[in-house]
Amino acid sequence: MVVPACLLALTALAAHAAGRIPEELGAFLRVYPGIVAPAGVLLGLWFRRGRVVLALLALAAADRLLARFGTAAAGVEVGRYTLNAVAFLLPLDLAWFALVRERGTLTPSGFVRLGVLAMQPVLAAFVWLSYQPGLVALLESRFLPGRPSPDGGVAHPALIAYTVALAAGALAWALRRTTLDAGFVWALVASFLGVVATRSATLYLATASLILVVGLLETTLAMAFRDGLTSLPSRRAFDEAVGKLAGRFAIAMVDIDHFKAVNDEYGHDVGDQVLRMVAARLAAVRGGARAYRIGGEEFALVFAKRGTRDVLGELESLRAAVAGSGFVLRSPERPARKPKRATAKRAPETKITVTISIGVAERAGRLTAPEDAVKAADDALYRAKRGGRNRVCGPARTGRT
Ligand code: GH3
Ligand code: MG
Ligand code: MG
Repeated sequence: MVVPACLLALTALAAHAAGRIPEELGAFLRVYPGIVAPAGVLLGLWFRRGRVVLALLALAAADRLLARFGTAAAGVEVGRYTLNAVAFLLPLDLAWFALVRERGTLTPSGFVRLGVLAMQPVLAAFVWLSYQPGLVALLESRFLPGRPSPDGGVAHPALIAYTVALAAGALAWALRRTTLDAGFVWALVASFLGVVATRSATLYLATASLILVVGLLETTLAMAFRDGLTSLPSRRAFDEAVGKLAGRFAIAMVDIDHFKAVNDEYGHDVGDQVLRMVAARLAAVRGGARAYRIGGEEFALVFAKRGTRDVLGELESLRAAVAGSGFVLRSPERPARKPKRATAKRAPETKITVTISIGVAERAGRLTAPEDAVKAADDALYRAKRGGRNRVCGPARTGRT
């Protein structure tokens, strides 16, 4: 969030101060758009993010078209038409790539998307060259209240396209919440500034691309630290967090009991659903706990600045909540939505109950390594298992709590 805002502010500053900036910076600003687009496309191909690759191609194409046909040199009328066509189509394309699911670039879906993108300038040129006055006038129409700006500016269909696109981008971000989705919204804003302040279009469109590239990198990095199935931070994040822990903390190791039996009896998919259910319960634990998925059916809770005694209550509630929450199996016959009227013939519902065992320990003195607390919690978990499972065990000297 902060990075795109800063990039945009810097771009606005550079665009505003054009002509008054030092030569070195001016030279950088001239090569910057030429570096961002190709480098971003290569990164997008490498990380298999077709949505980013296509959005970068759309931005680069918009920039080149505006530079070639959008200026007064190309003629006032063709300039106005190019600007309005770009300002109408670009936001819709960006919103499209913000909303759709990732399907790669060099894949059948990727090529179809690329084809749709490539068709747009061809169609726009056809509309212009075959002289369709109705369509051109429609694209350049102004029907919203308010006085037009002296230099014309973008027409109203483009403003509506941007409004719709921003709403769609915000929706995609609300649904997925990745930095890349936020990047699409910021890129839309940057590209809007580009089509409004046409003299700095290249700069703004390059920044829109850079925002997407940063979003791609941040999202990819975040993926390495997050487990895809449960969305909890992963083993890698756990190891890093434990290494950085200072002062007092309590750590709980959580393991699902007889989980192999759940898989064997109901299948791997059901096992995955159970994992998600347990993960959601762990994520909801209070008392400053942070939950991690550290292995297949093993989780950890780290309570910063807390001791074993402070967290036993939370852990006991967690254990009881999991044991008490029957997990209803969605049988294939079960409708996705609840029917309005109960039908006489109902598929029998299978209810699975799973339990968890928990071992907890704390870092005793300031000099002990955090890893020792992890080891002690592991030992406590082992005792919980041996003691009959579905229980919380504390450090060895206090025995079962
Ligand atoms: P215990 O009570 O002693 O912990 O018994 P357990 O069966 O839970 O332990 P065990 O370590 O023998 O089995 C763990 C099982 O977890 C084996 C593996 O198939 C399953 N598992 C690990 N990761 C996943 C996963 O991502 N999805 C599913 N469905 N199962 C998984
Ligand atoms: Mg287990
Ligand atoms: Mg295990």
